[in-house]
Amino acid sequence: MSVAILFSQKSSEEWQQKLSELLPETKVEVYPEIENPNDVEFIVTWKPHIGYVTDFPNLKVVQSIGAGIDHLLHTEIPENIKVTRIVDPALKQDMYEHVLACIMASMKNLMQYQQFQFEQDWKPLTYRSINETTVTILGLGEIGLLVAEKLVALGFKVKGWSNSEKNSKGVESFAGENELGSPISNTDFIVNILPLTNETESILNTNFFNQCADNTVLINVGRGAHLVENDLEKAIEHGKIKEAYLDVFREEPLPENHLFWTNRQIFVTPHIASVTNATTALVQVADNYKNMLNNQPLLNEVSLKRGY
Ligand code: NDP
Repeated sequence: MSVAILFSQKSSEEWQQKLSELLPETKVEVYPEIENPNDVEFIVTWKPHIGYVTDFPNLKVVQSIGAGIDHLLHTEIPENIKVTRIVDPALKQDMYEHVLACIMASMKNLMQYQQFQFEQDWKPLTYRSINETTVTILGLGEIGLLVAEKLVALGFKVKGWSNSEKNSKGVESFAGENELGSPISNTDFIVNILPLTNETESILNTNFFNQCADNTVLINVGRGAHLVENDLEKAIEHGKIKEAYLDVFREEPLPENHLFWTNRQIFVTPHIASVTNATTALVQVADNYKNMLNNQPLLNEVSLKRGY
């Protein structure tokens, strides 16, 4: 029996080495150098190739090394194969820090001041304070809820939107499609930390932006396909969105001629908001492999039906 690592746009060396140390009795191979695909019951993957499931006739578990599983779903996964993902305190904390950095940069106009600096323009702007600022978080899951709670602790007014209602002190909870309008229409910041599913794809569109108050700031750390890019450009032109901090894009890396590169109200980061830590994630991966061998429940299994 062996474990196969299938990575694209990511180096597998560290993962193979550390997983081999954690599972000394198990062969850990890296695709496409797989000695016998019939031996592979467990794959560890990030953005695998189309059709990857059928390459391994005895596959039992697909382990995503990210929090999301959308990158796996271009290929149909039969119901008998289990899919798991990473839930990691470090991933949540890193996301909180990234979101907080974007919010504070915007509240204190740091991006504008850098532009003014290059123009040698000494131009004071009014700034925001935490106790007068509302943040709405879309997606109160493992990551979103931690971000929400930490922002509450800092003194922000926080609203959150998810499928089911949440009961977390200081977080005003809204649930389901019918309750989306309220938290997005009266807030200073909207932070998208939703998973990408059939229901959430293109959710950040003109209809959504039209419901926002003028000058709302958007932070998108969910997935690029949540955002209709042209609709954001229009929302910025119309003053609905004041600034957008974007970490994820429909096409990554962002294509050379993309309009976002030169829009002064858009701040681009290269999908680095929160990066899976191989050391902590691999402990979960190894545990999951052992759980599979022992017919024990897997850690962080996702529902393929729900899509997250
Ligand atoms: P979870 O699965 O734990 O949480 C998802 C949340 O979204 C839940 O609160 C869920 O509601 C809510 N949700 C899902 N579908 C809907 C819907 N249709 N309407 C309303 N709410 C919905 O995910 P994580 O918190 O672990 O991760 C979220 C996403 O963050 C990942 O899928 C990934 O795309 C992104 N991410 C980005 C990173 C980056 O570096 N940019 C790094 C890590 C993650 P409910 O609680 O009711 O089920």
